[in-house]
Amino acid sequence: MPELPEVETVRRDLLKVLLGQKITALKIFSASIVKTAPATFSKKLKGATITALKRRGKLLIIELDRPNLFLLVHLKMTGQLIYLSPAALITGGHTFSEAERKREFPNRHTRVSFTFADGSHLFFNDLRKFAYLKLVDKEALDKIIASNYGPEPLDKNFSHDLFAASLKKSSRSIKAVLLDQKVIAGLGNIYVDEALFAAGILPDRVSKSLKPAEVSKLFKVIPEILKKSLKYRGTTFRNYLDGRGRSGNFSKQLQVYGRDGEKCYHCQETLKKIRLAGRGTHYCPKCQK
Ligand SMILES: [Zn+2]
Repeated sequence: MPELPEVETVRRDLLKVLLGQKITALKIFSASIVKTAPATFSKKLKGATITALKRRGKLLIIELDRPNLFLLVHLKMTGQLIYLSPAALITGGHTFSEAERKREFPNRHTRVSFTFADGSHLFFNDLRKFAYLKLVDKEALDKIIASNYGPEPLDKNFSHDLFAASLKKSSRSIKAVLLDQKVIAGLGNIYVDEALFAAGILPDRVSKSLKPAEVSKLFKVIPEILKKSLKYRGTTFRNYLDGRGRSGNFSKQLQVYGRDGEKCYHCQETLKKIRLAGRGTHYCPKCQK
């Protein structure tokens, strides 16, 4: 699943082409991924102009020139956004099939297509249909964010004290706590494993057992790793492409994720993989305590 750096990269790439685009037509190919009644969805979006593209955690929020209307886009496992015009193909999310490389859109994975006033298109594709589109008003949006999304680690207001307090009150493993979007928004399996390695903390440690110095280290390394990954346009491990349809290059910077059985770059110990919080978890048994 794309995590914060990958979704943010897609957002930045699409922002350049989507701002100011007026939706003149749209077609729903697969109603199950649209979490709003299809007739309402079409009626409310037709004629609307995109005024902003924002992100909260792994959720994309498209703002429109309609009062009190927001289009939510969650890519989940295999969602893709594809912008196509005669001059540009900008895509992000899941990797491309052969047909998609040949610019054959819509195709059998297209769930919704939008046509803009200038003749360009935005396709929302999803192989596994876990991704979704949803129209909400401000009140619903605020409620979704308040009940599902904790602090943004790249926000300047990201608070050490709040982060420390969340970790202090949990008896779950630190891995599970960092995956919890309500504790910190946007982290997934890759960046949690990398952050715990960078902070020298074993993933199965009980969250509330972390010493203040360990919490501080974790608080410091999380934004550092995310920023570095953003610079490399994210990580492509299995199925993510950035907004230009290319693999993210952070993969080469990964210290532990996906490297089980290989030597730790720091201590030469063999890296391990265990199952924790329902996820494959990678770590160095020597560098992490
Ligand atoms: Zn090591």
